[in-house]
Amino acid sequence: MAGIKMLSPDRKRALRVLENRLGGRLLTHLNSCVHCGLCGKSCHYYLKYGDPRFIPGNKVDQISRLYRRYFSPLGRILPAWVGARDLDEETIEEMVDVLFGGCTMCGRCSVHCSIGVDVPFLVRTARTMLMELGLVPKGLQSTIDTSVNTGNNMAIPQKELVDTLEWLEEDLRMEVGDESAAIPLDKAGQRLLYTLNPREPKFFPLSISAVAKIMYAAGESWTISTHCYDVTNYAFLSGDDEAARGLAGRLCDEVMKLKAEQLLLAECGHGFRAIRWEGPTWFGKAYPYPVLSVVELIAEYVRSGLIRLDPSLNAERVTLHDPCNLVRAGGVIEEQRYVLARAASDFVEMSPNRVDNYCCGGGGGQLSMGEYRDRRIEAGEIKADQIRRTGARMVATPCHNCIDQLMELNQVYELNVEIKTVAEIVADALVLGKQEN
Ligand code: SF4
Ligand code: SF4
Repeated sequence: MAGIKMLSPDRKRALRVLENRLGGRLLTHLNSCVHCGLCGKSCHYYLKYGDPRFIPGNKVDQISRLYRRYFSPLGRILPAWVGARDLDEETIEEMVDVLFGGCTMCGRCSVHCSIGVDVPFLVRTARTMLMELGLVPKGLQSTIDTSVNTGNNMAIPQKELVDTLEWLEEDLRMEVGDESAAIPLDKAGQRLLYTLNPREPKFFPLSISAVAKIMYAAGESWTISTHCYDVTNYAFLSGDDEAARGLAGRLCDEVMKLKAEQLLLAECGHGFRAIRWEGPTWFGKAYPYPVLSVVELIAEYVRSGLIRLDPSLNAERVTLHDPCNLVRAGGVIEEQRYVLARAASDFVEMSPNRVDNYCCGGGGGQLSMGEYRDRRIEAGEIKADQIRRTGARMVATPCHNCIDQLMELNQVYELNVEIKTVAEIVADALVLGKQEN
């Protein structure tokens, strides 16, 4: 490993990350990019700023130049010949700025790349290297540390959560006129263990009420754990596999402890991707129980007739923002539109949509990285324009991370829309009581 010997211990560790992952997948994606630049127009950062550093192919090159410099025979001897680059101060600074601050790992570029280069996978690998250098942006790292140390990313004490859920249960009983309606807490042997995004009990309790009302209408057997419920996994976004595995593992242990049959994930794009799709890789085995998004469950309720909806109860025009991690990376594509088309009388798609949808700008941990706030909002203008063009008064999105970003875009770009989860729109359209016929 010529050249590595001279580096500081943390830079050596960063390069070891690359070295240890030099298997087929990484090598394929590192070596496949032909620098055609076709992916430029898929990236909201490049579209907004026109800065060539933001072209996805150039982000790939940031990593592959290091590979060439330290792990290719020619790059070790003649680095300039193969466009290799040292892991020096300037390189590291640019990597932090572009790969943390100029990429949401949304994957839109990969869909548009004719070779299928997995740009988010490479960006995440580079983030792991930067983690070894202690360069994860402070806000993102502190969100992870809070999750690891307190059990949830907002450090909500258990008593505060229980108080919130108890008053939501009271409200539910009043709303449905049934004293037996419940939000079951820490109950063993239920069919579903439901998770929450900590932002829900803290700032958006109505999205919990909405799910509770839907569960009530469906007669579901479910519970929430009051000490292990956080669906988010910011360590997945920082590239910290060990912490990410630990966070996902806690939820899995809780499923077993409470003897639930299924793990039901709240509306959270990256949490869904991390737990449902990355978890089996981290654990080296498949889950012994189904793991599904609450959006999939609601779609099933509607399809089977277990709940009934009256779309006239949502009369205003509704559009849908597709969270990248749930849709492009997670494969939950049609369920939310199937449900919204039946829960709202004027549901319209934004364009483009589904796997071609633009990132809202808040993914990849951007919302926790205050230093890139202006860039996040400016790059989000593309999403704001998409929403405006629909003429919708309400935007549904099955992801609390996207909700936060859309709320900020709503304010800055004066969109004058309401932002809701899919469950909230469904709960507003629920028809309770016995089915006729
Ligand atoms: S990532 Fe794909 S589309 Fe982009 S420059 Fe490389 S080969 Fe071309
Ligand atoms: S993953 Fe998204 S943000 Fe990152 S380079 Fe690709 S299109 Fe741009």
